[in-house]
Order: sequence, then C-alpha cells, then structure tokens
Amino acid sequence: MSRIWVRLLILSVVGALLGNAPARGAVGTPIRLKVDATHAPDRHYEVHEVVPAAPGPLTLYYPKWIQGAHAPVGPINSFTGLKISASGKPIPWKRDGLDVFTFHLDVPAGVQELEISFDYLESGTGGGSVTDKLLVLNWYQVVLYPAGAPTAQIFVKATLQLPSGWKFGSALPVENHSGNEVVFQTATLGRLLDSPVVAGEYYRSIDLTPPGEPVHHEIDIVADSEAALAMSPEVQKGMTNLVAESGKIFGARHYREYHFLLTLSDHTPHFGVEHHESNDSRLPERVFLSPTGSVDAGGLLAHEFAHSWSGKFRRPKDISPSDFQTPLQTSMLWVYEGNTSYLGDLLAARSGLWRPEDYRGAGKLCSKSRTWTSGAYMAAAGGHGNGRGRHFFRRAKSDGMAELAAGPRLLRRRRVAVARSRNHHSRAEPRAEIARGFFPFVLRRGEQRSRVETVYVR
Ligand SMILES: [Zn+2]
Repeated sequence: MSRIWVRLLILSVVGALLGNAPARGAVGTPIRLKVDATHAPDRHYEVHEVVPAAPGPLTLYYPKWIQGAHAPVGPINSFTGLKISASGKPIPWKRDGLDVFTFHLDVPAGVQELEISFDYLESGTGGGSVTDKLLVLNWYQVVLYPAGAPTAQIFVKATLQLPSGWKFGSALPVENHSGNEVVFQTATLGRLLDSPVVAGEYYRSIDLTPPGEPVHHEIDIVADSEAALAMSPEVQKGMTNLVAESGKIFGARHYREYHFLLTLSDHTPHFGVEHHESNDSRLPERVFLSPTGSVDAGGLLAHEFAHSWSGKFRRPKDISPSDFQTPLQTSMLWVYEGNTSYLGDLLAARSGLWRPEDYRGAGKLCSKSRTWTSGAYMAAAGGHGNGRGRHFFRRAKSDGMAELAAGPRLLRRRRVAVARSRNHHSRAEPRAEIARGFFPFVLRRGEQRSRVETVYVR
C-alpha cells in the first residue's frame, strides 16, 4: 500500500468516527436514478438523481474501485456539471481535498431528499462504450451514492431513456418498458452496478437455455451493423452446450437468470468483464462473419461465464468490500483469474466452441506472454514451462496448499483427456474427479487458507 493510501485510509476512518454516519432516511428508501441516454450517439448522458437525506453533514461518493477491473478506475474524468438542490434551491457542495471521488455538503434543515444532476461525457475509456449505433452502460458511470451504508443496504430504482428505436439487454429485471423508457426493478446498489446494459439499433436476443434446464440463459448481442448479428447455428449450438456443460461442472446455479451481453464493434475497446448474472464482452464487429468466430467469441464468453462462479459467487474476501471506495486488495487475484482461465478453457473445449487443437493452443499462448497474470493463467491451465508458472506452484507449496501444488499433474492429465476426446462435449467429467482437482480449493467454503467466501449480490 502506498503512503497516499495509508493517509486516505486514516482519513476515512477518522471521518467515520467523526460522524460520516449515513444520513437518516438514506438506508432503505430507494434512490431514484434517471439516465437520459437519448443523445448517446453524441457521447453524452444526462443524469438526474433523487437521494433520500436528512439535515446535517452528508458525504456523496462517485464509485472509485471497480469490481472486475480490480482497480480505482471509476471514470471520474467523464463526470461533470454537478448540481445539487432541494425543493429547487441550490445547495453548495465541496469536493474532498484529497479524494476527487468524494463530495461534501450540508443538508439544510427540513430537507428530506436531494435533487442531483450531472453530465457524463462518454470517452470510451471509462468502462462504457458508445458508437453511433450502440451503447454499453455500466451504472457506476452514472451514480452518486451516500457514504456510510453498505451497498447492500442502499436501494436504487433506475430508469434509462434510450435513443428512439433502440433495443436493450440486461440481467437487471425490468418493471416497465414503454416507448424508449425502461424502468428497472428496484435493486441494491451492489446489484445495480453489477448489472450493465447493452442497447443498440441492431440487437438480437437468442435463447441459450438447454433442454431441461430450469434457469433461463440468453445472449443479447448489439452490433454496429445488422449483418454482424449473424451468429451461425453451429456457434449457437456451442453456446447452448456451454450452458449445459457449466451445469455438469458446477452442479448448481446461483443466479436468477443469465445474460451474455455481447457488443460487436470496431469502435469500442475489446475485452470481457465478469458479472454475477451477466458478462460484458466486446469483440470486433465481424467476429461471427470470420472463420475464427467460434474460437474468438467462445473463449471469451466461456471465461467470463465461468467467472460467475469463480470470482463473483465465490470471491476472495479481500476483494469483496462493502462499498466502492474501499481499496481492493488483490493478493488472491492469481487464484481468481487462474482458476477461471482453467475452467473457461475447459468449458470452451467441452462445448465444442473450441476444437481440441484450440485448447492446446491456448496453453502455448499463455506460456509465451509475459504479463503478471499470464503466469497464473498458464499455471492454472496446467502448463509450467516458464519461471512464473513454476513460481506459482512453488508459492502454493510453500503456503501449504498441497492440493494446488499438485495442480500441474492433475491438470495435465485432464488436459490430455479433454484434448483426446472427439466427443468431449457429450461426456461430463465426473464431479468427483473435479473435487480432487484444485477447483474446490477455491470453492470450498470455510477453507481458511484460501480466504475465499461466498458473495451474494443482493
Ligand atoms: Zn478473468
């Protein structure tokens, strides 16, 4: 931890002791959040919020530490034009002297709710994306929330206004949809920020629920052109297999329904971010029109899907804070990502989205790259050809993690078994075998060494 973080931590503790307690009325009564994205192609959102409050000092936060990014990258640079008022009268506010994500004000006597407005200028670098034909909205871009209460106790009723004719997809349940306005069901702040929205002129929703599966799964695709939505029947079958295979590996589902949110554009960054009930994955516009579409899309979507269990449902404790301002401590991220890399690759191969040679190739790719995560990725994928991978397992051994230290042997055997199988998607690996591998090392609740606990996003 750097010196500045120590100072900020001390300040936040002192602040809490000096009465940054939640304003009365802030807990329980929903914040009403309205995001006007009707001018999204102009890269501009207008945001209006009504926040319950009580007279006295109040601190408001703009989300800073972003889950999935694991870093303090809340897009504060795009946040501008903040105005706070009550009953039409402006209320002065002051930005914190040390933390640009923090705002202080005094709520006048007699005031029960604050009206807040600001603009969000979409630059395409803050987690959201906008093109002339589509948008990806992460709610952390467009919300201020009161300090002092866990995000599981702050409720938000969100409304989104879209450009005329655009359709949308999200795991967030809808209460009402009329014209270009979508009213979502009230959700906790934690769940809201974990439930991004994709919307666009070109949109396609495909049901991916396998026969007999009680939980609904779908993919919501937005693209810069109609042609780009053309997912082939083979890929669609592979995606449905992916859902079926996840049921065989994990044995249970912890979400109400699951949405693969896929954005296809040459004008957005390309990456994937995991969420509890969805994933936000962005790929080039013509990925389904290219011969490698199944491999490119399948690998990414399988990885982000596996994260719903490994990383969201079960998560290292130190990256599960109760708000979006507390620094995430990422010492266990090597397990979070490494484990998911193993599971994602396995699911991509089992589903048939990847051929056996794609699965073998993924391991080689990992061993050639040089980023810090690649060591964990490569190690988790069963390779151990470079120093980082060896270090990964030596560290596991020195930490007394015998199960994980045995990983290369267990995983290599499994890799060969998968790669040799022509019919890999039709044979489920016996769950007992998985139970001997290092997957449950991460997932076993109450395992003190792993510091992993169940996280429910309510
Ligand atoms: Zn990941």
